[in-house]
Amino acid sequence: MGRDGTIAIIGAGIAGAAAARRLHDAGHRVVVLDKGRGPGGRMATRRGPDGLRFDHGAQFFTARDPRFAACVEDWTARGVAAPWGGPHRSVGTPGMWAPARDLLAGIDLSCGRAVGRLVRADDGWRLEEADGTALADGAAFSRVLLTCPSSQGLALLAGCGQDLPGLAEVRYAPCWTLMLAHDGPPPFEAPARQDDDPAAVFAWIARDGTKPGRDGGGTVVAHAAPAWSRANLEDGADAVAERLVAALRAIVPLGTVRHAAAHRWRYAQVERAVGAPCLFAPETGLGYAGDGCLGPRVEFAYLSGLALAGRVLGRAEP
Ligand SMILES: Cc1cc2nc3c(=O)[nH]c(=O)nc-3n(C[C@H](O)[C@H](O)[C@H](O)COP(=O)(O)OP(=O)(O)OC[C@H]3O[C@@H](n4cnc5c(N)ncnc54)[C@H](O)[C@@H]3O)c2cc1C
Repeated sequence: MGRDGTIAIIGAGIAGAAAARRLHDAGHRVVVLDKGRGPGGRMATRRGPDGLRFDHGAQFFTARDPRFAACVEDWTARGVAAPWGGPHRSVGTPGMWAPARDLLAGIDLSCGRAVGRLVRADDGWRLEEADGTALADGAAFSRVLLTCPSSQGLALLAGCGQDLPGLAEVRYAPCWTLMLAHDGPPPFEAPARQDDDPAAVFAWIARDGTKPGRDGGGTVVAHAAPAWSRANLEDGADAVAERLVAALRAIVPLGTVRHAAAHRWRYAQVERAVGAPCLFAPETGLGYAGDGCLGPRVEFAYLSGLALAGRVLGRAEP
């Protein structure tokens, strides 16, 4: 056990943020570390030139479970989220990261900190960067909760000779995302369109600027389907952007393209989940939460984070 029972949470996506909030509110000292520039994880907003912004990861979230629904209702009342894109769908405002940031308010969060190694010491777990630099001022933690995509979690576990049975079963589909700004009229009337044909180039095309709190202009986010993304996974981002612009132009009218860039998500949406709300080993204090547990949704990742916090608190899983 760490000297003061402090809990480390690796990952400030929605799962890590939900776990952190729950544990903090229950009186635990929590430290959250994320390798990204800010919280949110795959609930992300990318800045482009000239003030352009694109939600290039998760597009919206649904809320079916009453606990998440209550949370979304609260976010909506406070302007952290707003309805968009159809019944029971919401987005973060002014960007998709907003709900994670809101959950982490008042909690010790360090961004730009990639955890490379977990080291077991007599007084608990210490965290290091890949080059051995101590993280969190060398503090010892009673528990370390992993909320990164499973492959990154597995690497950290393997590095300290630990395992969380079930985690290795998780599989993700990759996704190439096109972020585009053009000067023409809207390419279609609806805020977004979805294509469930696995052979299609795009699974999802959104008029991103129509989301509340965005600029309303001609920004488009288009997610390539898993098969297309897999087939082009190792290609360069510029070449992929060019191909995706041509593919988009072939199916919707586009004006002059002012900006086009592609982002590769190696671990985008879970294809095979653990099938349990979370993983926790009380004897080591190591645990895992994230969409890898229950499936490819923001809501499921949130519930997984809540479940892991419940295990740490010794309460029944939801
Ligand atoms: C393109 C795309 C479209 C999607 N569309 C939707 C949608 O429309 N609706 C929906 O509900 N879901 C959607 N999803 C899925 C949804 O985004 C995820 O299920 C959810 O956000 C996962 O949250 P998480 O907290 O489990 O993981 P993440 O959001 O991935 O958070 C994990 C965090 O861990 C950090 N991390 C990783 N390794 C380390 C390390 N070594 N040290 C420190 N930090 C680390 C990462 O930086 C990241 O911030 C989409 C995902 C993608 C990629």
